[in-house]
Amino acid sequence: MVQVDTTVPHSARMYDYVLGGKDNYPPDWEAAEEALKVWPGLWTSMRVNRAVMRRMAHWLADECGVRQFLDIGTGIPTSPNLHEVVQGVAPESRVVYVDNDPIVLVHARALMAGTEEGRTAYVEADMRDPEVLFAAPELRETLDLSRPVGVTVIAMLQFVEDAAGLIERLTAPLPSGSYLAVTAATADLAQGSTALAEVYNRRGVPMYLRSRGELEALFADRCELVEPGVVPMQHWRPEEGETPVGVEQANMFAGVGRLR
Ligand code: SAH
Repeated sequence: MVQVDTTVPHSARMYDYVLGGKDNYPPDWEAAEEALKVWPGLWTSMRVNRAVMRRMAHWLADECGVRQFLDIGTGIPTSPNLHEVVQGVAPESRVVYVDNDPIVLVHARALMAGTEEGRTAYVEADMRDPEVLFAAPELRETLDLSRPVGVTVIAMLQFVEDAAGLIERLTAPLPSGSYLAVTAATADLAQGSTALAEVYNRRGVPMYLRSRGELEALFADRCELVEPGVVPMQHWRPEEGETPVGVEQANMFAGVGRLR
């Protein structure tokens, strides 16, 4: 039986509430409504984030030929999920999803409904406890760590204090030619982002905002950043015909690096 504490807000469920999902509880609604009040742009930002996740995943599968993915901080399923995007390009793609919120585990079956040729798996792990993830049989049976892996850390890093430690742990076991894709919250783009973080902090969901320089530094030690570098999410390889969203209307940077 999965135990979910619904008496306190949680980042995955607040996110789900703002995106119009059904897996959230009164403390999540109250916290999310307060967040939206101080910064209504959160709604746009979350949508822009889902869109850049799709573009990054598609680009990695299509242009870089990546066939194995490790998605950290998956969240409650929101279609299209990463496996749908990459298996749409290459049905044999393998995806491991990771989250530490038990409510995501409730939906693991939806996340694991991949193609017959490919494979999707789910690991419940807290990224502050690194050993669990790479030791998990689900990961070992799904990913071949001697071949390149695309690690995606999407809208998750702002909930972790030691971002550098997390990136180091995630990339150390992976071979050269793997990719790291990140979106992360910042105070640099949208006025209101700092007030938003204060609401999250006050509600017991600590949020760490990072500058472009801090995010670039996360890549610098181990990756070559691919074009266009660490940029506002809207500017990361936008598709033609996409409705432009102003830089100040979303509060996250996006970047992809290739492991040396
Ligand atoms: N990647 C998804 C969801 C982002 S919400 C998207 O972009 O749409 C952030 C997610 O990170 C939540 O599901 C939350 O449960 C997860 N998370 C936060 N801290 C975590 C940690 N220490 N370990 C694993 N997952 C974590």
